[in-house]
This record gives sequence, C-alpha cells and structure tokens, in this order.
Amino acid sequence: MSTSEVYMKKGDRYLLHTYNRFPIVLDHGKGVFLYDADGKEYLDFASGIAVFALGYGNEVVNSALKDQIDKIIHTSNLYYNAPTVIAAEELCRVTGMDRVFFTNSGTEAIEGAIKSALKYAYTGKAADDYEIIAMDRSFHGRSMGALSVTGNAHYREAFGTGIGHIRFASFNDLESVKAAVTDKTCGIILETLQGEGGIYPAEENFIKGLRELCDEKDILLILDEIQCGMGRTGHMFAFEEYGIKPDIMTCAKALGCGIPVGAFLMTERVAEKSLVPGDHGSTYGGNPLAGAAVMAVLDEFEERDIVGHVRELTPYLESKLDALVRDFEIVKERRGKGFMQGLEFTLPVADIIKNCQKEGMLLISAGSNIIRFVPPLVIEKEHIDRMYEILTKVLQNL
Ligand SMILES: *Cc1c(COP(=O)(O)O)cnc(C)c1O
Repeated sequence: MSTSEVYMKKGDRYLLHTYNRFPIVLDHGKGVFLYDADGKEYLDFASGIAVFALGYGNEVVNSALKDQIDKIIHTSNLYYNAPTVIAAEELCRVTGMDRVFFTNSGTEAIEGAIKSALKYAYTGKAADDYEIIAMDRSFHGRSMGALSVTGNAHYREAFGTGIGHIRFASFNDLESVKAAVTDKTCGIILETLQGEGGIYPAEENFIKGLRELCDEKDILLILDEIQCGMGRTGHMFAFEEYGIKPDIMTCAKALGCGIPVGAFLMTERVAEKSLVPGDHGSTYGGNPLAGAAVMAVLDEFEERDIVGHVRELTPYLESKLDALVRDFEIVKERRGKGFMQGLEFTLPVADIIKNCQKEGMLLISAGSNIIRFVPPLVIEKEHIDRMYEILTKVLQNL
C-alpha cells in the first residue's frame, strides 16, 4: 500500500461518511501547488473551496501566526485582545461596515446575521412575527438556521422544516422578491454572486432594486460574501461593483486563509437596534489566533494589491475559458466574475474533474454540470495556461 492508501483506508474506517472524498491525501502546499502524501504535485484551482486566496506557505501570514501561537492562542471573549481589536478595525474599514462579530465559520456568520435581523425587527417594530426572504439555488451553510435559508432543497430535505418563517424567491427576479414581501418581512438574504448553486452573478438592476425595496420598507439587506468576497470578483467585496451597501453582511472562507474564522458585520443603524450583551456569543469566535490571521491576510491583500492582480488577469482567464466554450461542444457557457468562474457543461462533470486530478490539477464542481474555477488569487498567467492545457487534453480524450 502507498502512504496515501494507508490514510484513505483508516479515514474510511473512522471518519463519519458525510463526504465522498476524492482518493487524494494532501500533505503540503507551496504557492499554487499542492502535494499528496506520495509526493504527486497538483496545480490548485480549488483553493480548499475558495479559502487559500494567498496560496500556500505565505511567509508573512505564516510568521504572524507562529508569533501569535507563541504569545497566546485563546482568551475567550470575556476579555479584549489586541489582534482581534485591530482585525475588527481593519475589516470595518475594508467593508465599509461599522461593527463586526467574529465567528469560527461561514455558517455561524449566517446564524449571527439572521439573529441580528430578527432582533432588529423585534426591537424596532415591536411586532411578534417575522419573515426572511431567501433565494432559490442559494447556499448559506449547514447549521439549522443557515440551512433554512438555503434554496437547494436537496440539502434541507432530510432535516424537517428548519427554523421556519422563511420564504423563497427567484434570484435575479425582482418581481418574485416583491411578491414574497409581506408586512412581516424583516430581511432579504442572498449571495452577491451565487457559488454552490452554479456561479450566478447578481444582475445590477436586481441588486439595486433590492436595495431600493429594502430602503422603502425598512427591510434589512443581508449579503452573503462568504465565497465571493475578499477580492475574488476583482473587488474587495462583490457588492462594491454595484455601488450599493448591505445592512448586514457575512464573510468567511478567504478571511483567514485557512485559519477557521468568519464574521458578520452591520451598519451602526442596525447595531443600535440589534444584538446587545447576552444576545449572542462564541467561546472561540475571534480568538487572538483568528485575529492575527485576519490582520495578516488583510495586510497582505493591500501590500500585494491582490484585487488589482485579480482585475489584471481576469480578461486572460476569461479568454481561456471562452476558448473552451468555443472549441468543445459539451461546454455550454461561462459565467462568473474575476477569479470566481463557472463553465457549464451539457453533461455531469465528475469524470472530467477526476481525469484532471490524474493529470495533476484540482478543480471542483458547483452542481453536477458545472466546473467551478476558484484558484488562489495569486495565480499567474503561466498557471492559467497550464490549467487550459490540462483541461483541453482531458476534454479531447473524453
Ligand atoms: C461556504 C459558504 C458558506 C458556509 O461556510 P462554512 O464555513 O462552510 O460554514 C456560506 N455561504 C456561502 C456563500 C458559502 O460559499
């Protein structure tokens, strides 16, 4: 047995079978490449699901983390700690929000966003029942609240009715949202660019229309930027492109570039009527290690102008993906923005992804027929070329 096979066998015996894992045991990474336990190299166009924005082994981030580990990793939120306070200031600055609560994951950020919206509504309107509008095809996470606003029924089905008080509308269909609004509606939640659902960007008139609708009816606009935020679309946050601001937003995935950290943020206007001491908490959330990670990641984003780099290379990535649409019948269309792109195929993509792995490249899907491209944001032209070559070879041999 190879080293990889030893661990796969053990993993299949002891890990709860909730993932159909690919037969790869990852061991270490460098830049935009990953290496398995037997030394095989993979070009990474998945980034651990849009997490490793800065690539593997970033020295600035790693040394900041090592320093913090030697000082203190955890304090609880009964006390202040410097890294988390500075990370909060920085994150408010780059998002344009006023207040942040740090979580350990994306799904927890969504839970906090939902609670914040409900609390705001109960405080402000003094009514006794509220509804949230969510979108078809959306994905917001796996805890019960986040699952309840997730549009893909397949994820929800086995777990009953969820938290209730949720209505679904169609993404990019303003009229369907308006039709779902009642006098109980307190929040509208959506991904600015739908990820898991198949890489669908919000249309400008849709998102601007939602902003107007929310302003008119005192409904909170909640944008989930967990996957599409942090530079991925060529903007620090995807909503910036539309010239609007959410009332509440969520962030995670690339926020800690591998250290588990998420956040929900809100404007002061919302904060004034929302969560107060006793309403919400987390033992780990925003501990000093997570704070140090956020600080270092945001510093690196600015220092290296990651957003500028994404913008500069986006036309090149798009031209290569468009060439695949042009050259292969089975590639139907390209959708997406920046380094968050999808290619929709006329058939399931599982075999294509497996064949790319054999050729030394990691890709992920977003739904059965869509390949999702979410590479580290530090890829260069040569990596796009190599992706294009491998994919072309795999498609030719299909
Ligand atoms: C991944 C994701 C989540 C959930 O984040 P976890 O860290 O896996 O809990 C929520 N919303 C969106 C848009 C995501 O992509």
